[in-house]
Amino acid sequence: MQRVGRRFAAAVAMLVAGPGLAQQKVDIAASTTVLADLARNVGGDHVNVVSLVGPNGDIHSYVPSPADAKNLADAKLVILNGLGLEGSTAQFMRSAAKGAKVLVASDGITPLRLDNSPDPHAWQSVANAKTYVANIRDALIAVDPADKSVFEANAAVYLRQLDALDAEVKAAIATIPPQRRKLVTTHDAFGYLGTAYGVEFIAPHGVSTEAEASARDVAQIIAQIRAQKIPAVFLENVTDPRLLARIAHESGARISGTLYSDALTDANGPAPTYVEMMRHNVKELVGALAR
Ligand SMILES: [Zn+2]
Repeated sequence: MQRVGRRFAAAVAMLVAGPGLAQQKVDIAASTTVLADLARNVGGDHVNVVSLVGPNGDIHSYVPSPADAKNLADAKLVILNGLGLEGSTAQFMRSAAKGAKVLVASDGITPLRLDNSPDPHAWQSVANAKTYVANIRDALIAVDPADKSVFEANAAVYLRQLDALDAEVKAAIATIPPQRRKLVTTHDAFGYLGTAYGVEFIAPHGVSTEAEASARDVAQIIAQIRAQKIPAVFLENVTDPRLLARIAHESGARISGTLYSDALTDANGPAPTYVEMMRHNVKELVGALAR
């Protein structure tokens, strides 16, 4: 009898609150698929997340669309990477966000520097990704305090997964002989991965895919590949493959596969989540270098 009474009370509460309000989700707009994935892991089924730049999209050459403006205006939380990743579109995102809280997910990270500007690709070190997750958790609690315990529990579970991932990456890189831990990629997106785990990445493009590689840069990289016997050259999902194909051809280095730097793949690709992206990249590195 008491149970029926409780159920009746719950039904009345639903009617009073309205069906939508009882399960209202926090709308989040994130600039990239990596940030969106981190937010989904923290928010679980209490959030709706859209990524402004889609799977395999290039944030460095991002041009906002009217749909993006609407997603930003509807959002309660907007997540940017910061450190210059969003370039001049960061200002657009901030002003289109209307009443939303704007989080710079890299807050608190000491950036690496490349030619006097910060390297924005901080998520490529798992330790930094943990800082992103903690920042996202705190921002979600600020916009939706009623779900504080959910966000804390989700973040705790995910942070433990990232600890395991970090250990996995270290163990995998340790199987590569130290003198073979060097490779060429298209743009300088892996400085944090290289610094955290002891791999040297060399890139003709610099920190953005927008920069034009000069003939001198390309010639220098070809000479470097030959002199240092760099074993592998990798493509990226967000950059034009032609430059690297030319470098590989002229230097005799082998194109060893594709690394995922700034964007995840869709669900059918090899890197639909942050954790899978890191696993895929490390598997490719080990496959090409550890022999
Ligand atoms: Zn990049």
